[in-house]
Amino acid sequence: MLGSSRSLSGEATGLALPSEPPKRSYTYARSHRILEVCGLMVSAGLVVLTAVFAVRALPEGGLWLAALAGFAGLCLADLLSGLVHWSADTYGSPTMPIFGGFVRTFREHHADQADITRHDFVETNGDVCIFSSPVHFTLLLWVESAFALFLVLGIFVGSYTNSQIHKWAHLAKPPWLVRAGQRLRICLSPGHHSRHHSGAHLSHYCITTGWMNGVLDTVGFFRKLEWLLLKLGLRRTTPSA
Ligand SMILES: [Zn+2]
Ligand SMILES: [Zn+2]
Repeated sequence: MLGSSRSLSGEATGLALPSEPPKRSYTYARSHRILEVCGLMVSAGLVVLTAVFAVRALPEGGLWLAALAGFAGLCLADLLSGLVHWSADTYGSPTMPIFGGFVRTFREHHADQADITRHDFVETNGDVCIFSSPVHFTLLLWVESAFALFLVLGIFVGSYTNSQIHKWAHLAKPPWLVRAGQRLRICLSPGHHSRHHSGAHLSHYCITTGWMNGVLDTVGFFRKLEWLLLKLGLRRTTPSA
């Protein structure tokens, strides 16, 4: 979603002497870096595999079906990004066991929005691939219909790319093609996402395309979910206003 919360070692400020070892762009464990690279490669392979399976399963004249399923998948990916983001913004604490690091990533992003822009490609996208690819693989084992395969394709293309899209929304100068996508609302735009960062971070949680934010915020989806969870005994740990 946000990539890692680990801070970078800093940009190189000058030319390194030839005898110096090359500077790493990350400061966390090398073992995790390797895991991130593996996650990225596995995720890319699964996307290609899903696309091949989906095209093979597509009935004649079923292009409209593929487009509809892919679009529904992207909407679901946006919704999932909102649910994950909202849960980290609302519950738990950065010091809690197991999920503390996950919560801290989102809370630190509120305090320093620019930090995500200093993450390289692997750090930005590695974690989401590590956590999403096992689910993707499991789904591929039993999904067979063309509609379901295109749905899965949309969900995971959206999920794997949401940290990168979120990072682009915070960049002062993203690539021109990305800027075009942001203007066309194909992916999260800086203006749209800035509404989450203004105020108490209580709306616009979806950070993939942002398509679901309008309807979710209009119906008060997350406040209703919090009310329901409160009835079940789970109280939010951050201020509600
Ligand atoms: Zn947030
Ligand atoms: Zn943000």
